[in-house]
Amino acid sequence: MIDTHSHIYSEEFDTDRVEVIQRAKDKGIKHIILPNCDSSTWPRMLALENEYPGYCHAAIGLHPTSVKKDYREELALIKSELERREYLAIGEIGIDLYWDKTLLAEQTIVFKQQIEWALEYHLPVIIHVRDSFRESMNSLMPFKNSGLTGVFHSFTGTLEEAQEIIAFGGFKLGINGIVTFKNSGLAAVVEKIDLKHLLLETDSPYLTPAPHRGKRNESAYVSLVCEKLAAIYHLPVQEIDERTTENAYEVFTKLPKIL
Ligand SMILES: [Zn+2]
Repeated sequence: MIDTHSHIYSEEFDTDRVEVIQRAKDKGIKHIILPNCDSSTWPRMLALENEYPGYCHAAIGLHPTSVKKDYREELALIKSELERREYLAIGEIGIDLYWDKTLLAEQTIVFKQQIEWALEYHLPVIIHVRDSFRESMNSLMPFKNSGLTGVFHSFTGTLEEAQEIIAFGGFKLGINGIVTFKNSGLAAVVEKIDLKHLLLETDSPYLTPAPHRGKRNESAYVSLVCEKLAAIYHLPVQEIDERTTENAYEVFTKLPKIL
């Protein structure tokens, strides 16, 4: 298993991060991908990557909820980082209209700029979409057939939306603890999607799968998402593990392959 989306660099893990990572390793998690939010989260993220080289992998990007009036400065920092060193991916990026609808124009500019950089630096993108499926697809449309690849992280949409993403090409859907929530309806959607389009993730510390719902999430719990998919597809857990791991290697081509 690979946890393709985890914020375990955040302060929620400051007291027991070593144990959290050990539990992930004990569960058979081969890699943890760390998506960035903005320049305030980045030193913590890089410090964690530094402590666990080859295991924790940093992405760089400006999260849509971190897009403020000063977005140009934030973008300039990201550009200089992309010049300075290699990252696994650009993320997380996208459009979020749940918290604030007034910055749609700025979020769109920031999203598209980062997509352009993803193409320039040959990196996949980690996309965050919340209450903004149409707006996000509109932003992506000019990049159809550009070779852009990535993941729609924390996918919770309808079957039609999943099919639209798959038809766009180059993208997988990130599935997390939401699929274990009885009221989410996501399991019924996932059932109709070919497993080859799915990635496992936690979005730690958020979206903790059942039976730990309501508590802090951590990377080891990606195994609960894996088990839920096994139940949905009527396949052995081992097969879900192997196939979603392969899917993750397909998107995140710079991940060292561990068999
Ligand atoms: Zn995230």
